[in-house]
Amino acid sequence: MSHSELGPVIVTGGSRGIGAASVRALVALGRPVVFSYARDADAADGLCAELTQAGGQVIAIKADVTDPTTPALLFDRCEAAFGTATGLFANAGITGPATKITDLSLADLTRVIDTNLIGCFLTVQEGARRMARGSIVLMSSRAAELGGGGEWVHYAASKGAINAMTKGLARELGPRDIRVNAVAPGLIDTEIHAAAGVGERLVQKRAEVPLGRIGTADEVADTVVWLLSERASYVTGTIVDIGGGR
Ligand code: NAP
Repeated sequence: MSHSELGPVIVTGGSRGIGAASVRALVALGRPVVFSYARDADAADGLCAELTQAGGQVIAIKADVTDPTTPALLFDRCEAAFGTATGLFANAGITGPATKITDLSLADLTRVIDTNLIGCFLTVQEGARRMARGSIVLMSSRAAELGGGGEWVHYAASKGAINAMTKGLARELGPRDIRVNAVAPGLIDTEIHAAAGVGERLVQKRAEVPLGRIGTADEVADTVVWLLSERASYVTGTIVDIGGGR
C-alpha cells in the first residue's frame, strides 16, 4: 500500500451524511482523519468515539467553513497530530431553502454561496498551500447539470462553480502531483433534504432515477475513498456522477 493511501485526510462536514460515511470508510482503511463540523457536536463526538474504540485515528473540530480561519486550523491540527495531509475532501455544503428564484432572499443566497463556494475555495486554497502531493476531492452535485429549476437554482449554481474549480485546479496543481476531482451525487439519503424543508423529496423524485432507487451515503463514500487513493493515480480533472443514471 502506498504512502498516500495511508496518509492523513482532512474532511469538511464529516459529522453526518456523506462526510461521515467517508470518514468511516477512510479510517477503516487505516487513514488518519481530521474532520470538521458546524453545529452538531453530539454527532461528531459519537462518530469519533465509535471510530477510536475500533482503533482508528480521528479528530473532530468544530469549525465553520465560512470562517476564513478554519482551513489553517484544520491543516495545523492535522500536521501536529498525523503529519502533512495527502488527502482533502471538501464536502461541507448546504442547499438553503427549496424555493423559486422569485422568493429567494439575499440572505439565503449569500449563505449558500459563502458555504458551498467560498468555504470550499478557501479550504482548497489552504490545501494547495500545504499539501506536498496527493489528492483533493470536491463535492459537486448532479444539480450542477440538472439546474435545480423550481427548487434550488442558487444551490445548483454554487455546485456549477465547483465543477469549474475542479477542471481549473486539476490543471494548476497537476504539475505538483496533486490530483483534483469532484463527485456529483444525485439523490442520496441524508438529512440535507429535510433541512431544506423538503423531507419528502426523496420519495417524490425516486421515479426519475433509472436505477429506481435513492442512493446511500456509503455509495458516494466508496468513490471518494477511491479518488483519494493511489488506485486513482491517473485520474484528475474529472467529475464523477453518482446519480443512478439521473
Ligand atoms: P448533511 O447530511 O446535511 O451533512 C452536512 C455535513 O456538513 C454535516 O456534518 C454538517 O455539520 C456539515 N456542515 C454544514 N454546514 C457546514 C459549515 N458551514 N461548516 C462546516 N461544516 C458544515 O449533508 P449531505 O447530504 O451529507 O451533504 C454533504 C455534501 O454533499 C454537501 O456539499 C451537499 O451539497 C452534497 N450533496 C448531497 C446530496 C444528497 O442528496 N444528499 C446530493 C448531491 C450533493 P453540522 O451537522 O454540525 O451542521
